[in-house]
Amino acid sequence: MTMIKKVLIANRGEIALRVLRACKELGIATVAVHSTADTDAMHVRLADESVCIGPPQASESYLNIPSIVAACEITGADAVHPGYGFLSENARFADILEAHGIIFIGPTAEQIRIMGDKIEAKRTAKALGIPVVPGSEGAIRSNEELLRVAEEVGYPVLIKASAGGGGKGMTVAKGPDEVVQAAARARAEAKANFGNDEVYLERYLATPRHIEIQVLGDGQGGAVALGERDCSLQRRHQKVWEEARSPALTEEQRTEIYATCAKAMQDMKYRGAGTIEFLYDNGEFFFIEMNTRLQVEHPVTEMITGLDLVHAQLSVASGEPLTIRQDDISFHGHAIECRINAEHPETFIPSPGTITHYHPPGGLGVRVDSAVYQGYKIPPYYDSLIGKLIVHGNSRSECLMRLRRSLDEFVVDGVESTLPLFRRLIQNPDILAGNYDIHWLEKFLAKE
Ligand code: ADP
Repeated sequence: MTMIKKVLIANRGEIALRVLRACKELGIATVAVHSTADTDAMHVRLADESVCIGPPQASESYLNIPSIVAACEITGADAVHPGYGFLSENARFADILEAHGIIFIGPTAEQIRIMGDKIEAKRTAKALGIPVVPGSEGAIRSNEELLRVAEEVGYPVLIKASAGGGGKGMTVAKGPDEVVQAAARARAEAKANFGNDEVYLERYLATPRHIEIQVLGDGQGGAVALGERDCSLQRRHQKVWEEARSPALTEEQRTEIYATCAKAMQDMKYRGAGTIEFLYDNGEFFFIEMNTRLQVEHPVTEMITGLDLVHAQLSVASGEPLTIRQDDISFHGHAIECRINAEHPETFIPSPGTITHYHPPGGLGVRVDSAVYQGYKIPPYYDSLIGKLIVHGNSRSECLMRLRRSLDEFVVDGVESTLPLFRRLIQNPDILAGNYDIHWLEKFLAKE
């Protein structure tokens, strides 16, 4: 077992701060890295040491592997936490760190690689007993195969790019007269976006919910499922509001999917925190992908389990076996996270600039994960997240009540923010009833 003594945090913003806090609690020294645009950032101020790794563009700084490895060597960091985004799902980065004798706080490079390839991920999930969306076995090779598989799974079908991401290269076909053209369109879009025109086919689910399972493995065959999160409220495939537990599931459905996911992670000897994402339709789960990292919405799971997921990541990265078992995990109450972005609340145009006034809410059950402060200048180069408001209550209704007053208290001046959107959502009967699918938010916004 390698006790981690110093962690370099290869990220910025609220997640860099989140990781830094966990390290401090455990007595682990921290190294912040930053671009020249982030010299005044909170993660730089609060870290024990900091290293400038390049100019503002992420490709030259937060994605600059040689700079980050050099920063590890200069500071003597023995582990790297990648946060989310940037290099967090980059298998080559994990390989390079390992070659330098530095611990990558995350899964093995091989596990990242498997889950990073959509067809391979789906094949692996299926082999591990995870339910997948009915569709082609791997890439579609001919129009005959396309028509045959589409007929088998039933229309409407969805053509997806193997190398896909961000919903690009996805095309729906309602019947056999559309499917050949739809596939050609998906191929062209995939080629243009990813330089790879390989596509596969799935049944199109019309009104599913997005429900994901948080998992944690020790890389030695120990693994647990830490409950679900419902992330159906999305705009352009970006999650806006996440909650745990899902208003849609029964206790039996939960127990079953947790057991399936935990078993799958035990069998693949998964290491670290991960999320298995599903579309949930008519009582059934269908795997869509696995994220091999900590997610933006991980706090809602922490709020209802009382577990610190970054502590857990640091522990398994040090080689500690998991000591918790599935039966030890209990869920308390309900949590909701709102992602507050520096964007216009109706047009969603990013609004970088200086925060002239900042007053986050507080009180029982209220958590704000943010790296901004009054006078902070949000740079235009990165994501537009101001912070995450996470609220916990003993029940969903108490959580909603507390969320409403927290949103009322929250003041961010100087830039546009999406706070007004959440203040509208919290009044809506469908939201209050937990009655929404993955299309609900786009429809709500279109009606405005
Ligand atoms: P990407 O990697 O491009 O984001 P995903 O496979 O994660 O692709 O899918 C992105 C989104 O597209 C999902 O969150 C869901 O909203 C929608 N989607 C994906 N597969 C299906 C499907 N079979 N039926 C209906 N919607 C789907």
